[in-house]
Amino acid sequence: RFDVLVVGGGPAGATAAIYAARKGIRTGVAAERFGGQVLDTMAIENFISVPYTEGPKLAAALEQHVREYEVEILNLQKAVKLVPGADIVEVEFANGASLRSKTVILATGARWRQMNVPGEDTYRNKGVAYCPHCDGPLFKGKRVAVIGGGNSGVEAAIDLAGIVAHVTLMEFDSALRADDVLQRKLKSLPNVTILTSAKTTEVLGDGQKVSGLTYENRNTGESVKVELEGIFVQIGLLPNTEWLKGTVELSPRGEIVVDAHGQTSVPGVFAAGDCTTVPYKQIVIALGEGAKASLSAFDHLIRSSAP
Ligand code: FAD
Repeated sequence: RFDVLVVGGGPAGATAAIYAARKGIRTGVAAERFGGQVLDTMAIENFISVPYTEGPKLAAALEQHVREYEVEILNLQKAVKLVPGADIVEVEFANGASLRSKTVILATGARWRQMNVPGEDTYRNKGVAYCPHCDGPLFKGKRVAVIGGGNSGVEAAIDLAGIVAHVTLMEFDSALRADDVLQRKLKSLPNVTILTSAKTTEVLGDGQKVSGLTYENRNTGESVKVELEGIFVQIGLLPNTEWLKGTVELSPRGEIVVDAHGQTSVPGVFAAGDCTTVPYKQIVIALGEGAKASLSAFDHLIRSSAP
């Protein structure tokens, strides 16, 4: 039985585990894949105080830091159910096992929705990107496309237009869905082309990196090729919270609703990082939120009557 059980082993989960263990309380981390999204990242240039690192290196460092403490790490464990109780919360796993803890910190992160077109996997991190705050500066002076005309796509296009040479924004529908104020801003920019009714069909590359894409003009059925160096896919970020539906309050987008302390709607259950309603999905933010949720869980423990 744990005092703090963390579900998820990305930046948020690793930090939550370290903060809990440093209080001398019984701490466990169960993760489907220790390291989280960081494992899929190449260059990281906004981990403040470390000007450049790479995902697998940072993921290994996260795990090594956790292992400095007495933390039980259960890797390759997928949580499938949360069972709240008066003083004990239970987490059930896909392999049939279950763990009990006085408090639980949910840090299951999120995943980017993909286009699922040929070339996308081949050129991920080689021109295909998902995070403009992370990878925008890598495309300074180059040509990029942003796929998706919702708020995140239009925000990304406006952001990138200030860095890159040219942005082509592509929306599948016949109109953009972003807020008017964002659309007006986008349309005022001289180096942006907006395409609607455009269905991305393939990512093209030279074997090393992206060289362009093809899209279908859905009005005419014509296939069009665009030459460019980068593609930012902005068609949705999906929180890994499907398993919590009906137990913990989720936002309409499926994010775990947390207050300023990382407290969820269930007493004794806290959450941190990309799986929550906290805006801006970034490593440094996930680290800070993990620390906060862990300190809140500790606060909950010292205030609760259970010994
Ligand atoms: P995650 O890193 O998503 O970790 C979630 C953890 O939960 C994983 O261990 C996962 O296996 C586990 N998990 C999920 N579901 C379950 C379950 N049911 N049961 C058990 N475990 C589960 N951010 C930056 O700041 N800078 C960058 O340069 C940068 N580049 C990026 C590049 C790419 C390609 C991607 C995908 C993201 C990038 N990000 C970057 C974003 C950053 O990686 C995330 O904001 C950060 O990893 C979020 O941390 P997290 O701990 O909340 O979640």
